[in-house]
Amino acid sequence: MNQKITYELPNGISLEIKREDLLHPFISGNKFRKLKYNLLQAKIEKQETVLTFGGAYSNHIAAVAYAGKEQGFKTIGVIRGDELGDKIAENPTLQFAQECGMQFEFITRDAYRLKTETNFIANLKDKFGSFYLVPEGGTNEYAIKGCEEILTEEDAKFDYVCCAVGTGGTISGIINSALPHQKVLGFPALKGDFLKDEIRKFATKENWELITDYHFGGYGKVNKELIQFINQFYRQTEVPLDPIYTGKMVFGVIDLIQKGYFPHNSKILLIHTGGLQGIQGMNTLLKSKNKTLIEVQ
Ligand SMILES: *Cc1c(COP(=O)(O)O)cnc(C)c1O
Repeated sequence: MNQKITYELPNGISLEIKREDLLHPFISGNKFRKLKYNLLQAKIEKQETVLTFGGAYSNHIAAVAYAGKEQGFKTIGVIRGDELGDKIAENPTLQFAQECGMQFEFITRDAYRLKTETNFIANLKDKFGSFYLVPEGGTNEYAIKGCEEILTEEDAKFDYVCCAVGTGGTISGIINSALPHQKVLGFPALKGDFLKDEIRKFATKENWELITDYHFGGYGKVNKELIQFINQFYRQTEVPLDPIYTGKMVFGVIDLIQKGYFPHNSKILLIHTGGLQGIQGMNTLLKSKNKTLIEVQ
């Protein structure tokens, strides 16, 4: 569903947001798209267990845990940070995943870096038996296929499609289904230039660009300006944004509009990829530092 954004914008620019965050109450936005064909494939392969990877506040971990419960898979989450095992009660994401029945394997950050290596995966198979592996963030060819379903015929009128970028899976699907007259702008939520190569692995076209100025210091990093923007955007539009991905992307788009980046009368579509479950965890962190909290939801 696309929603018009009533926001004071210069140069005849119009803005709509695709509310992928409303697709499912617990399997948030793009994670729903990314899991769809992966879980179908797991069924085809007759796997009973789905194993995946993620950080402490991962939207993907929460989504896999809930989808597993809903569709009858056992789920295992390999979690980055061996110190988190004692802190599940303080972490809303891990607590939610555990309540859905997910079993955790907490590993050190060093071990986590090896997670795509054959040996590492063989050790997990020894420990847990056979499983269907979904990579970190859910990104693989099945995820891209699901994300190609985000844009539909009604979106042909837009000149620009903007989305947040983590591993690059979502934007790859969007690029593949965008029309020739459309340009796809990705806003990475993290630092680093490896993303372009990741996207080129899956994307079949060249009609895209990464805007790397709005990561706010890196993955999971926020500042007061961003939090205030998210709160103000919510008051003005009633659209809640998350602080890790969509908040940074929408901040970036509005900033670029105000700086005159887009041609006059551009029609821009923002993709709301969800991630709202992360607000609670971020607020716990902000509260412990006595900082301004996110007021949405
Ligand atoms: C995971 C996530 C992303 C990043 O998606 P990728 O396919 O990894 O690039 C963007 N937005 C939200 C809300 C997410 O949860």
